[in-house]
Amino acid sequence: MLPIRRQTNTVSIGSIKIGGSEPIRIQSMLTSDSTNVDACIEEIARLDAVDCEIIRLTVPNQKSVDSLPAIRAEMLKRGIERPLVADVHFNPQLAVNVCEFVEKVRINPGNYADRKKFEVREYTDAQYQEELQRVEEKLLPLVENLKKYSCALRIGTNHGSLSDRVMNRFGDTPEGMVESALEFLRILRRHDFEETILSMKSSNPLVMIKAYRLLVREMDAENMHYPLHLGVTEAGNELDGRIKSAVGIGTLLCDGLGDTIRVSLTEPAENEIPVARSILQSTRSRIYNADFISCPSCGRTFFDLESTTEQIKACTSHLKGVKIAVMGCVVNGPGEMADADFGYVGAGPDKINLYHGQSCVEHNIPAEHAVQRLICLIKEHGKWVDPA
Ligand code: SF4
Repeated sequence: MLPIRRQTNTVSIGSIKIGGSEPIRIQSMLTSDSTNVDACIEEIARLDAVDCEIIRLTVPNQKSVDSLPAIRAEMLKRGIERPLVADVHFNPQLAVNVCEFVEKVRINPGNYADRKKFEVREYTDAQYQEELQRVEEKLLPLVENLKKYSCALRIGTNHGSLSDRVMNRFGDTPEGMVESALEFLRILRRHDFEETILSMKSSNPLVMIKAYRLLVREMDAENMHYPLHLGVTEAGNELDGRIKSAVGIGTLLCDGLGDTIRVSLTEPAENEIPVARSILQSTRSRIYNADFISCPSCGRTFFDLESTTEQIKACTSHLKGVKIAVMGCVVNGPGEMADADFGYVGAGPDKINLYHGQSCVEHNIPAEHAVQRLICLIKEHGKWVDPA
């Protein structure tokens, strides 16, 4: 069973496309000071080595914009062709200036045109409209340069930084997050700019899940089909950060939402990529390896299930898309291994049965030969490829 993916527009980020039927893209963000070209290049090289498809870096000042040609030149010299995304806050002019040097710009609608004080003010309808007019005026030079340099845009809404205008009308809510993005989207549409991607991040997975779902409903109502960038912001590190990201991003992927993901960890950026891949693989949103199903073992298990599973994984994990089950007993194993293509199931002390789909095709194989026999079975059914 696969998630039914929401149909979206396709947006080009340089040579890579996001949305439509494109694979769900994995991206990350540098932690280096973007004026430090050497540090950025080393980090980019590490992300490139683990196949991070899109790389974002912060652009807080003009000096950072000025560093980009040197970063790009060194990337080219090293044969690294990853699209770059500039992350801009509080300074519309920087967003305009950076279009020439990157494939995508990310702005935060909460602070793009608002030197906000993060305080709630009262706005009359007329004042609210004036504010939107002001936002439109600030956005127009950016739209012009985005078009000129074939650059995409992400409207990256963050729960923690909504504008005073939005906070006044909608509060610190998913509804406010969605309206914050829609205000910008409507302006971009009026000026025929469609290369837009949306995100609704929060450090609280419940808030971000609700916001993305609401955004999709509201966009559908306005006949908008922009791709989504998914992420739980400030997710933390180690197990907590991974679980929080898996819950937030994984839930939405299971809904069929999401066209690119960023797992945000308080760790070296390259650590995010295997986690992102694992989330995509677990939700069957993008397949990288073989898929494994294994039971926890119990008193019915008569072989070392943990080490056997590791052994089978080590020699078959490169079989992209093949589903392999390792189950402790024939009592519950065959029924529980769901849609596995191949099954390795304990049949008694040191005896293994092998399955192809739901059919038991080899009985009572001595355990010491069973992994090799499983590989032969996979080969006989044409599912084997040699490791790269
Ligand atoms: S499949 Fe069998 S061995 Fe594994 S946990 Fe279930 S009952 Fe125990």
